[in-house]
Amino acid sequence: MRIQIEELRDRARQAHRLWEACILCGRRCQINRRERAGLCRAGNQAVVASYGPHWGEERPLVGTGGSGTIFFSYCNLSCVFCQNFDISHEAEGEEVDGARLGAIILSLQKQGCENINLVSPTHYVPVILDGLTQAAEKGLHVPIVYNSGGYDSLEILQLLDGIIDIYLPDFKFASDDLGQRFCGVKDYASVAKAALKEMYRQVGLPQLDEEGTAQKGLIIRHLMMPALPDNTLDAIRFIVDEVSPQSWVNVMAQYYPAYRAEEHPPIDKPLSRREYLQVIKQIKLLGPELKLLNGL
Ligand code: SF4
Repeated sequence: MRIQIEELRDRARQAHRLWEACILCGRRCQINRRERAGLCRAGNQAVVASYGPHWGEERPLVGTGGSGTIFFSYCNLSCVFCQNFDISHEAEGEEVDGARLGAIILSLQKQGCENINLVSPTHYVPVILDGLTQAAEKGLHVPIVYNSGGYDSLEILQLLDGIIDIYLPDFKFASDDLGQRFCGVKDYASVAKAALKEMYRQVGLPQLDEEGTAQKGLIIRHLMMPALPDNTLDAIRFIVDEVSPQSWVNVMAQYYPAYRAEEHPPIDKPLSRREYLQVIKQIKLLGPELKLLNGL
């Protein structure tokens, strides 16, 4: 975190004001979250589904102590292929206020986690800033990771400037049409593209310590989908042309048809290894300077 505690308190206050006519994400419901839930179904309390050290994240985030993940319930997107639908569609977990969240954050740091990894944070940013304030007052010092679906409003990202050290967004679809079909929002690609550029403006390319653990920077995740090679290539083209040709990108190969994907061809089947490797070859031609974290 690169801002002083007073500034952090002020950002938390500003975030709470954005909650009164909610524009935290691209849906821009403009409803008062103090009074009722938005389209994300999240109300005025953050719900934590689970938390703990996690070794399944990208290598630079894991280090020796693991990434201190905090999984938040509900989601601002409605992806038909959601692989965490038990968390994103149900309010499973513990309702937390800033004090409780601050205690969770500090407990992860105390366990030796390399960072605090906020998973699906967008719809709870005001409570998250309360929690970070409480934790910062008591010695929080590890990097903060913002692990979102990429559908974040520019207003909320600007409030996070200087607070988030590592952005870890998804970039699921490069066209609004595909976002409408598979994520349930009309402008996924437009919002995510603006978000990626803002995130890069704030933190730039990843910076590692001597042990190879990330301290700052943008790492983009893209889940390759079956029979949609052009989507992946369009996403990479955008990253190379509009973010940075040296971007760090995790092109993930683990797609399988979870949740309601079986009703939505062509994503009703797993991604084959052959298709993945063919597209990776093309990615390397499009972006020879990219750092591919999961390229085989
Ligand atoms: S976070 Fe997004 S979906 Fe949820 S209430 Fe706010 S604008 Fe609506």
